[in-house]
Amino acid sequence: MESLRDKYEVVIGLEVHAQLKTKSKIFAPDGTEFGKEPNSQTSPITLGMPGVLPVLNREVVNMGILTGLALNCEIPERCKFDRKQYFYPDLPKGYQISQYDEPICVNGYINIKGKRIGITRAHLEEDAGKLVHAGADGLAGSSYSLVDLNRAGTPLLEIVSEPDMRSSDEARAYMEELRNIVRYIGVCDGNLEEGSMRCDANISIMPKGSKTFGTRAEIKNVNSFSALQRAIEYEIDRQIEIVEEGGEVVQETRLWDDNARETKSMRGKEDAHDYRYFPEPDLMPLQISREWVQEIKDRMPELPEAKRQRYMGLGLSEYDASVIVEQMGLALFFDEVLKLGATPKIAVNFIMGEIAAYLKEEHIEITDTKLTPENLAELISLIEKNTISNNIGKQIIIDMMKTGEKASSIVEKRGLSQITDESAIKAVVQKVVDANPQQVEAYKGGKTQLLGFFVGQVMKETKGRANPKAVNDLLKEILG
Ligand code: ADP
Ligand code: MG
Repeated sequence: MESLRDKYEVVIGLEVHAQLKTKSKIFAPDGTEFGKEPNSQTSPITLGMPGVLPVLNREVVNMGILTGLALNCEIPERCKFDRKQYFYPDLPKGYQISQYDEPICVNGYINIKGKRIGITRAHLEEDAGKLVHAGADGLAGSSYSLVDLNRAGTPLLEIVSEPDMRSSDEARAYMEELRNIVRYIGVCDGNLEEGSMRCDANISIMPKGSKTFGTRAEIKNVNSFSALQRAIEYEIDRQIEIVEEGGEVVQETRLWDDNARETKSMRGKEDAHDYRYFPEPDLMPLQISREWVQEIKDRMPELPEAKRQRYMGLGLSEYDASVIVEQMGLALFFDEVLKLGATPKIAVNFIMGEIAAYLKEEHIEITDTKLTPENLAELISLIEKNTISNNIGKQIIIDMMKTGEKASSIVEKRGLSQITDESAIKAVVQKVVDANPQQVEAYKGGKTQLLGFFVGQVMKETKGRANPKAVNDLLKEILG
């Protein structure tokens, strides 16, 4: 397969649905909270009863504009809603309100690893309900499915990329960056496992050097970044095999089965005309004034790319900057600590070191701990003033997370402050030298690597509290 791969070029375009974090639905006052009793958030509007009218939620539009701006899109002065007709048990109205030819965002892009990926458009739409199939949720053996319409009417922004990606790595990087963006601007929690962000991957292959794209298959049901990559890799091989055997790839929707590690045909792909789109007669076209767009632009927080650049300007490596930006909780905490004047390099070492390790071990977020930015900044200042050593800092940071206690109070209580007083250190150094005559002789005979042994002994005597530089200097002086 590897050598066959060289003959083909892969083309990928992603459609990503981001669930917008509004309190109420896109056209109805029902709540959007996850995990409520089935069918408890279902007004007549959500149920699609005859005679009810949708009313557009302004916050949905705000979030749509904010996302569009973050994705470098144009926000046209006018957009409109359309009906997309199809039958499905989780869609009692028989149609979904979406946007067809006049979406809220057009012509954008994002950069991944120095490459620009075009964004064709992003449009607002309502989500459908959920089917609970027999066998799931304690219905084992039953021969029916249940419909839960709580999710129906939840606002979605569908972000459609250009077919600009050429590998599963690029598709993953694009998806990860998109998730970073929607999370940082606060419009979506970006949780793939829970489905608040969903991705359909369109994949085709063509002979290397060709200008004409092949027929695409659309893969649904990928619930993680690694599943996305696996699904794409599988699909590339499947299509190459078909073409190598003289067959043709058919345009269809396929489902990824992450346990079986394969895609299966789900249905032939509809063309747009099959949906009989027409303008939604119950909603006016939406006029978006330039003032409205400007107002939202003014509220734009720092985007992930700018954050990474800023961190690199502070001396962080590109890798460290990316890793911290991926973990939004840690990045926001880091920013707070920086605002308090802490030295970036020391702060990042704590955050990406002891703190990140502890959070991972406990499966919690930084906000679940009692550590405050003020307390970390104070700890760092104690290290910089030589009140404590870096090592002592590493020892007490976990306690600070667990108890919320200030570094200075832990240091005082446990007598951890660094011994910087020369005469005190000198006394210990002398004691260690006197107690080890053999080593002293060897050292003087040229075995200078024994210096480490003496430093270790002094540190042991002082429980790690002696200032390391003073210890080194004094040892050299006394040992001659
Ligand atoms: P639909 O809803 O019918 O799937 P969309 O226009 O919403 O159509 O999405 C089409 C997606 O497929 C876009 O992300 C686009 O970049 C991608 N795409 C189009 N043609 C190809 C192709 N030949 N190979 C791979 N991806 C493609
Ligand atoms: Mg599609």
